[in-house]
Amino acid sequence: MKPHPLYINGQFVASESTEMINIVNPGTEEVISKVVDAKDEDVDQAIEAAFQAQKNWEKTPQVDRGLIVRRIAEAIHADKERLAQILSEEQGKPIHEASGELDGAIDFFFYMSEWNRKIGGEIVPSDDSNEQILIQRKPIGVVAGIIPWNYPVFIFARKVATALITGCSIVVKSSEETPNTAAALSEIIHQSDLPKGVYNLVTGKGDTVGNRLSTDARVAIISMTGSVPAGTKVMEAAAQNITKVNLELGGKAPMIVSKHADVDLAVEHIKASRIENAGQACISAERVYVQEDVAELFIDKMIRAMKDIKVGYSLEDDNVDMGPVSSAHHLDKIEKIVENAKKQGAEVKLGGERLDLGKGYYYKPTVLTNISDELEIMKKEIFGPVLPITTYKTFNEAIERANDSIYGLSSALYTNDYNEVMQASRDLQFGETYVNRMTDEATQGYHAGMRKSGIGGTDGKNGINDFLSTHVMYLKYNE
Ligand code: NAD
Repeated sequence: MKPHPLYINGQFVASESTEMINIVNPGTEEVISKVVDAKDEDVDQAIEAAFQAQKNWEKTPQVDRGLIVRRIAEAIHADKERLAQILSEEQGKPIHEASGELDGAIDFFFYMSEWNRKIGGEIVPSDDSNEQILIQRKPIGVVAGIIPWNYPVFIFARKVATALITGCSIVVKSSEETPNTAAALSEIIHQSDLPKGVYNLVTGKGDTVGNRLSTDARVAIISMTGSVPAGTKVMEAAAQNITKVNLELGGKAPMIVSKHADVDLAVEHIKASRIENAGQACISAERVYVQEDVAELFIDKMIRAMKDIKVGYSLEDDNVDMGPVSSAHHLDKIEKIVENAKKQGAEVKLGGERLDLGKGYYYKPTVLTNISDELEIMKKEIFGPVLPITTYKTFNEAIERANDSIYGLSSALYTNDYNEVMQASRDLQFGETYVNRMTDEATQGYHAGMRKSGIGGTDGKNGINDFLSTHVMYLKYNE
């Protein structure tokens, strides 16, 4: 089996690296492809290609850039079914979710294409009547787009579409666990009218290829999505050249269920949030705080809802709700965090162990109660289909406990009380809060975390601004 090629300066090229990484289908444990851990020279060539291509790309009128981004969206759309299959195979999410992720990515490319002719600067008043002050917004330059395994298509779209519409060139590093979709998307981009060198793809590991990208002075922004430890290393590496970082990192989303909530709605959404992608989303329901008056009702309904979930390999069984987790290593991590919680007094209401289907990395949908805030399971990202539930008395207490986290990405509130909603909008300290709504960010929003959940984002107008730099012109004139 040959490894996927790299894509550098408009060509698919084989690396001379002999360091191979096997890509395993988490539903079947079969090796389905290989990539190389690219060499430093490969990464350097990709950056140089992007750096050179940037010079003309940023001068290309927005209307032309928008058209290319739109054509890429159309081409991905035309190939959606095949791409969803590749995604489901390499990552494990059921095919209906893979198809949904493709829809999100296509929408993202279309959305960004529509920003053409709209990205502009400002004219601000001068203190001098013989002067104009122009704040120009220009492409920041070469983007290093570092992608995780959990949403390898959608996050690819986030990095690539935002880079292209803003006039930036990009070197993508796919995840070493899910590189097949990035390889397939590169073939689509290769068929487009995008000038060579504007988009490049390298494969490999974080501490080799990712680190090389993060330490190169030609890179203007490192847009990395992944874990907090990897984000910390990226930031350390970026510090060498004072390179801008754009980090979308982990989360520990609290779900507050008030006594004024529609409990059925809360159960439906929290269940969906926890089992989507087998719980491996940065905005998944990671901890539940339910007001004690409705706790019994909520827990009963949640157990029943989670019991109904059919787990399996969706490419062999159409009726599957939830697939495997991403890898053997990740399954071990989930098992360990639940075992520790059990030892510390957590009560297993449902699941609480692996699911043996003969092959693949499956974990049972799990509900845990009798949880103290001090447990590791309430502090660390679980990233699996495991729902720890705790209770609260007052709304102030719920907000305070929800905020008490190193993470600050996502949060949700279920209530029909106006005052609670308003208080949450003032006091919850998270990049986003979903009120009576599924945890599912909008393309035109801004998915950006607080605290260790990261810095900046790629969505909407604010994401575009993150990929632009300012150049202020002071234009003095004589009468
Ligand atoms: P990870 O941190 O292990 O890897 C993410 C990417 O970073 C990979 O491509 C990896 O190779 C690279 N990387 C690792 N070390 C690096 C280094 N030293 N220098 C440069 N690059 C490096 O994360 P993962 O396990 O692939 O993804 C799961 C994590 O991503 C979770 O914590 C999840 O919450 C987070 N995530 C966040 C968002 C968001 O938008 N905030 C979205 C999806 C996933």
